[in-house]
Amino acid sequence: MPTFRTGTEEETIALGERLARELPRRAAVLLIGDLGAGKTTLAKGIVKGLGAAEPEEVSSPTFTLIHEYGPRPAVYHVDLYRLDHAREAARLGLDEIFEKEAVVLIEWGEKFPELLPDERVEIRITSSHDNQREITVDRIHI
Ligand code: ADP
Ligand code: MG
Repeated sequence: MPTFRTGTEEETIALGERLARELPRRAAVLLIGDLGAGKTTLAKGIVKGLGAAEPEEVSSPTFTLIHEYGPRPAVYHVDLYRLDHAREAARLGLDEIFEKEAVVLIEWGEKFPELLPDERVEIRITSSHDNQREITVDRIHI
């Protein structure tokens, strides 16, 4: 399982750009980590790396729940932090989004494993001290 370390927000964005090149065109990517770990920051880099938008155009979908960048390749950025029940999340139409030829980045998706595709990429971000972040990438097929 590849592990990366970054020491600044910019380095995390740059890592996201690199990782974007390795992703299949259709992918569900879980971004897992505490509040402030850097999930949205990494998403900025992935969106940029896919050529869908610039990092400054990417904002957290905490309240809006889903942002879409594109049009082609389409990138969805989903944040399920504010949802408490799987049925609320299901109502967002995640099933249909996962069927599209799109990269779907999901924050707090691990709260609702039953809604996720069995084949997915899991990226975990942990902060150690100061601005240091450890980022691991895992491709899983349940
Ligand atoms: P999350 O989406 O996981 O809640 P954000 O990406 O929104 O987190 O915020 C991460 C915060 O941590 C930002 O304020 C960012 O500037 C800061 N930060 C400090 N060091 C790093 C780093 N190495 N990588 C990413 N973000 C960092
Ligand atoms: Mg976030």
